[in-house]
Amino acid sequence: MKVCKFGGTSVASAEQIKKVAAIVKSDVTRRFVVVSAPGKRYSEDFKVTDLLIELAEAIIADIKYEEKLQNVVNRYKENAEGLGLDPSITEEIAADLHARIDKASKISEEYLLDTLKASGEDNNAKMIAQFFNNIGIKAKYVSPKEAGLIVNSGPERAQAQPEAYANLNALKNSAEVIVFPGFFGYTKNGVLRTFDRGGSDITGSILAASVQASLYENFTDVDCVYSVNPNVITNPLEIEEITYREMGELSYAGFSVFHHEALMPVVKLGIPVNIKNTNNPQAEGTRIVSNRKENLRPVTGISADSGFSILYVRKYLMNREIGIGRKLLQILEEEQISYEHTPSGLDDISVIIRTHQLSPKKEERIVNRVYRELHADDAYFRHGFSMIVVVGEGMKNNTGLAARATATISKTGANIEMINQGSSEVSLSFGVQEKFENVILQALYNEFFAVVAVR
Ligand code: ASP
Repeated sequence: MKVCKFGGTSVASAEQIKKVAAIVKSDVTRRFVVVSAPGKRYSEDFKVTDLLIELAEAIIADIKYEEKLQNVVNRYKENAEGLGLDPSITEEIAADLHARIDKASKISEEYLLDTLKASGEDNNAKMIAQFFNNIGIKAKYVSPKEAGLIVNSGPERAQAQPEAYANLNALKNSAEVIVFPGFFGYTKNGVLRTFDRGGSDITGSILAASVQASLYENFTDVDCVYSVNPNVITNPLEIEEITYREMGELSYAGFSVFHHEALMPVVKLGIPVNIKNTNNPQAEGTRIVSNRKENLRPVTGISADSGFSILYVRKYLMNREIGIGRKLLQILEEEQISYEHTPSGLDDISVIIRTHQLSPKKEERIVNRVYRELHADDAYFRHGFSMIVVVGEGMKNNTGLAARATATISKTGANIEMINQGSSEVSLSFGVQEKFENVILQALYNEFFAVVAVR
């Protein structure tokens, strides 16, 4: 029994949805189909989710929004026509959007944004289920509310609660193919909440774990996961198999093929994930598994992500002071900021933070508190950093690997602002200035992939 998730580009147009139907039809074990909202059909196109966010923002700003609503409806209209569906489905979608807007006006702006965002996948799932039935695939749209995909209430990000898995397990016995919208769930009190952007991957994973699927197929628009960003390096090595841990480390910093939070539900049960291409379903894709075959390469992939800031704090003999780390992190906690790494020396500590969580006001408050409460000698923020992460199960106990990586980075002229190696030794992270990101990626790729291939 397989759970298949189809991403935005796989369900962007009638033509794409027909490919999805052919994929589902070709394998009777594909029993669960999780769909995204229609994504981009070509590179300058808009994702329906982005159109919905624009719509919500217009309503919040109290400006005319009818045209924005119509832009969303038109995307479905075009797809419905291409799929030969009853035109009434587009009227139903327009009515659904108006109903959501009415309901949200009595609740909150946050809810308005969530319910409109979620409508992208919800209406798409309804449409796709209808199309499946028209062409002879016995299918049923299932709402996350009826099925009991329970998430926590805010302010923390939405996450499935343990009872969600038990509730969704009941879907296992369905005689029809289940078409399930990705990206959202409901709190115990029935309030809709969306996951992070790209969160339909998370829904697919929750469903796969709930029904104990034998495989979670994640269909996207690339043949496989590459060892490094193919937009930076031409024809990089394809990854056939990768462990959950390696994939987790890589998708944390820049590998956007699969949402990094989507691994957790399947890891616990050891359900393999297969990243596949809707436009080329014959390709084997990349398998994400608990244990993979060993290969000669210590490094499996290299990722890079920008948008990091560093909070630097210095205090003489900090290492002798009990509780200073906790106090520093508590200040961040009280500002609702999560942190990524805390490399430290005897007299100093740096906290690496994603910049989008900061604002000039917050930074000022934090720095003032660090001086006042920690009696620091120096404290300031710096911005514009990238994290480069070198990942591989084969890096464990591999002497000299860090030396090779740092020597390679030094040849690019970049200064390494931070180094971090977790005790699992599966990843090595480097903080560098953003402007060096691509040249470092190229240099590290040459060192760990291209050169090995020639030898
Ligand atoms: N449609 C949502 C987004 O664009 C969720 C998803 O596609 O996974 O983020």
